[in-house]
Amino acid sequence: MKISKAVAAAAAAVALALTATACGGGSDKGASDGGASGDAKNKIVIGIKFDQPGLGLKTPDGKYTGFDVDVATYVAKELGYQPDQIEWKQAVSAERENLISNGDVKLVVASYTINDKRKEKVDFAGPYFLAHQDLLVRADDTSITKAEDLNKKKLCSVTGSTSAQNVKTKLAPEADLLEQGGYSDCLTGLENKKVDALTTDNSILAGYAAQDNNKGKFKLVGLSLSNEPYGIGLKKGDKDLQTKVNAALKKMVADGAWEAAVQKNFGPANYKSEPAPQITEGS
Ligand code: GLU
Repeated sequence: MKISKAVAAAAAAVALALTATACGGGSDKGASDGGASGDAKNKIVIGIKFDQPGLGLKTPDGKYTGFDVDVATYVAKELGYQPDQIEWKQAVSAERENLISNGDVKLVVASYTINDKRKEKVDFAGPYFLAHQDLLVRADDTSITKAEDLNKKKLCSVTGSTSAQNVKTKLAPEADLLEQGGYSDCLTGLENKKVDALTTDNSILAGYAAQDNNKGKFKLVGLSLSNEPYGIGLKKGDKDLQTKVNAALKKMVADGAWEAAVQKNFGPANYKSEPAPQITEGS
């Protein structure tokens, strides 16, 4: 009797301790400023894509890879955060401005084109990369060779992206445009013949085409339908952060880490990227 009481008491103590630990761990994630006060918490929250191989990808074993991940990791380090102090958060195209202005993330490094409309809500550092809008079609398709061929075809892009906007306003206003939450949803539609083409930045499309399980299924048309200078999104008016991120990006180019990240992430996709662009934001 005495023994079972002691066991019960010990079990209760363990349960209490576990609850306390769980609560402690949880409260750490409560930062609503994307790590703006993260110095105290020793953590920075960064928004990336989770479904874009070569740029931002969450792998099945829970790792994060891609050029944007490497750029973000370098910049975070310059800001004083080691890789294990980074919390990665998914930033789908349509949510990027909101994530920044709500303080859910401190930075967005997610194939994020700098443009005036977005600059009404957020600021950017950079640019750190220049991509161009292109088309991905099925490997055996010969009917789409230029943007106008998309009129009357079924085309897929992503809500809140510059690619979807360009199609609607100038490239192919008569295309039957399906807008998805992420480009990987479009890719499934292209494979299943629900759509005839997927349009977004060539850097993203090359990554999909090069994946082992996609080999031989798709091809890039090879057009340059727009300029897409990628910036690092941050809170509007945070000049100090913008200056620090710009300095980190300049250093990354100067010390060769930028070129190494390009080779590592785009090399396998055979994607010929543009040289590092001049930093123009904030000046
Ligand atoms: N770079 C374009 C954009 O920021 C297309 C890629 C994306 O949606 O992330 O809208």
